[in-house]
Amino acid sequence: MCRHLAYLGPAVTLSSLLYDPPHSLSHQSWAPRDMRGGGTINADGFGVGWYAADGPVRYRRATPLWSDTTLPGLAAAVTAGAVLAAVRSATVGMPVTESAAAPFGSSRWLFSHNGVVAGWPESVAKLAAALPPVDLITLEAPTDSALLWALVRDKLRRGTGPCEAVAGTIAAVAAAAPGSRLNLLLTDGTTIVASAFGHALSVRSGRGSVLVSSEPLDGDPSWETVKDRTILVAGIDSRHYVPLGES
Ligand code: GLN
Repeated sequence: MCRHLAYLGPAVTLSSLLYDPPHSLSHQSWAPRDMRGGGTINADGFGVGWYAADGPVRYRRATPLWSDTTLPGLAAAVTAGAVLAAVRSATVGMPVTESAAAPFGSSRWLFSHNGVVAGWPESVAKLAAALPPVDLITLEAPTDSALLWALVRDKLRRGTGPCEAVAGTIAAVAAAAPGSRLNLLLTDGTTIVASAFGHALSVRSGRGSVLVSSEPLDGDPSWETVKDRTILVAGIDSRHYVPLGES
């Protein structure tokens, strides 16, 4: 089940997240350690989004991260102070396309989902029907993750704060589709909102930076596990947790 990460802090190379650490995102794509609930490797695409002067830029492919021959050079050359990246293990029945790989995004937001919506697609048809039709017919991909992004984005557009948008989407989807795994990751380049809801999540902060990741990238003892059914809201110098209800 996909792996994802988000970083805020002093500008770093994309390589320092994707390739350099012993358990980098690239390593997690073929040797993940904690794929509870399904999947063995994350070979069905990847994406990295970073914040440039004018906002986020995305590079996504439908192939394994480890097989991309363009990204290592790009990642060594690009530095950014805010990054969101993901590797994908497609849920059975969902297409393997570039547009189904996270990060999803619009305007200043980048978003990723690690998990699965149980009973897809029937279980969430009613929630989908409440979205503006234009959002539905322009969904980035016919996948659960793309619909989750449309649900979160709809709330953001209506002025809901990012933590409330993530919490509200999880509550609605968990009620409609019990048993779903909903680790969502959202950033605007200054704050990270990350839920642990059925999958692993860890955080490391300090020295003016914060890094949230499905699995720790290295053996640094300052990595902390995010408790299941919790939302972490993290900025460069701040961190708080919001419990999610049982469902
Ligand atoms: N269900 C989502 C997809 O197919 C996410 C999969 C995952 O977390 N492995 O893209």
